[in-house]
Amino acid sequence: MMNTLNNGTHEPVAESLYTKCIWFDYCPIPEFVRIGKLSKKWTCFYCDVANPVCKRYQLENFGRNIPDNMLPDGKIQGNLTRFND
Ligand code: SF4
Repeated sequence: MMNTLNNGTHEPVAESLYTKCIWFDYCPIPEFVRIGKLSKKWTCFYCDVANPVCKRYQLENFGRNIPDNMLPDGKIQGNLTRFND
């Protein structure tokens, strides 16, 4: 991939080494971040880089049911649901 720099020259830029988590489109955490219920730090550290230490990711891979309010670090955030304001 080539990017144009401010001085008009071109420089090759490596594709990102990181890819989104495979559960990104099904997991409530990115949606909570998108609507402002959670800090963007969660998606930056876990979802956007497919961080395998995410507890939700690990449980998803075992086919477990995961409560919506379980954070990537495994803690439960009491008032967090898909349906409240
Ligand atoms: S919270 Fe975990 S399982 Fe959900 S999208 Fe982010 S990294 Fe994937």
